[in-house]
Amino acid sequence: MKPKVAVIGSLNMDIVVKVNKLPGEGETLLGSGMSEIPGGKGANQAVAVAKLGTPVAMIGKVGPDAFGAALGDSLRQAGVDAGPVDTGTRPTGIAVITVDAAGRNHIVVVPGANAELTPDDIDRRLDVIEQCDVVVLQLEVPIATVEYALRLAKRLGKTTVLNPAPVAPLSDDTLRYVDFLIPNEHELQTMAGVERIDEASLSETTKELLGKGAGAVIVTLGENGCYYADRNGSRTYPAHRVRAVDTTAAGDSFIGGFVAGYIASGDAGEAIRLAQRTAAVTVTRAGAQSSLPTMVEVAAFAASS
Ligand code: AMP
Repeated sequence: MKPKVAVIGSLNMDIVVKVNKLPGEGETLLGSGMSEIPGGKGANQAVAVAKLGTPVAMIGKVGPDAFGAALGDSLRQAGVDAGPVDTGTRPTGIAVITVDAAGRNHIVVVPGANAELTPDDIDRRLDVIEQCDVVVLQLEVPIATVEYALRLAKRLGKTTVLNPAPVAPLSDDTLRYVDFLIPNEHELQTMAGVERIDEASLSETTKELLGKGAGAVIVTLGENGCYYADRNGSRTYPAHRVRAVDTTAAGDSFIGGFVAGYIASGDAGEAIRLAQRTAAVTVTRAGAQSSLPTMVEVAAFAASS
């Protein structure tokens, strides 16, 4: 099936190690378990879209190693077209995550092959971008590649979604090529250089981003839902009240829900409603990609809430 969505971004293997307490400097201690969990914001968002039943292709880079092969398999298993994931020369990106009994963590990310994704790679996948309606990007691959892909996608008349995570400086005119900018409140805070996010600064900072050319800004606010602003005004969408057990991948599932909803309806409000439902189900389950719901599960949640 032709992809309706192209996600251009990172694929990482998360290596999660459990310890009783986090090690101090120079300390060696025993861990009680290790798991390898497919991740990377790009891959998570592609899986979120696919699980909701919207055809999606992933453009990215892994290394010539077992992690790369495993990440490709996990995308395919979720229904993502992983054909446009190339194999680079550096090792597959990893995140080494040490978690203690209280859930505190240390995370070290080694971008590896993600850092090798170039504008030329994007050009070689022009056919994928041409076929789709929406192009989704984050900032875990080189910024120059993100900016190139955004311009290309807009030139081809596509709808573009940028999740500016992890936050990084963008060229001044980049936001002109972004239809939906979706930061969380910490990312907005850093992008706008403000001390804290409250009602007044939400309004001010999103107006500033709209002034720089973003078509609309959606700020996710955790259990407080999200704030939407475009040139016609703004509104807040409260989150669903659920018992959150693990907010990992809440943001990625929100993006997946938003994109699937936007493809289905062409309406940002409808898309936000699906995004909030998808994220609400995600936070009631442990895990990252494994906690992302199918459309049947989201519909069941909507019917019961
Ligand atoms: P965040 O990345 O934490 O801003 O969360 C993204 C989205 O996930 C929010 O806009 C909400 O829709 C949803 N969400 C996050 N945390 C919760 C929660 N505790 N309860 C319900 N929804 C949540």
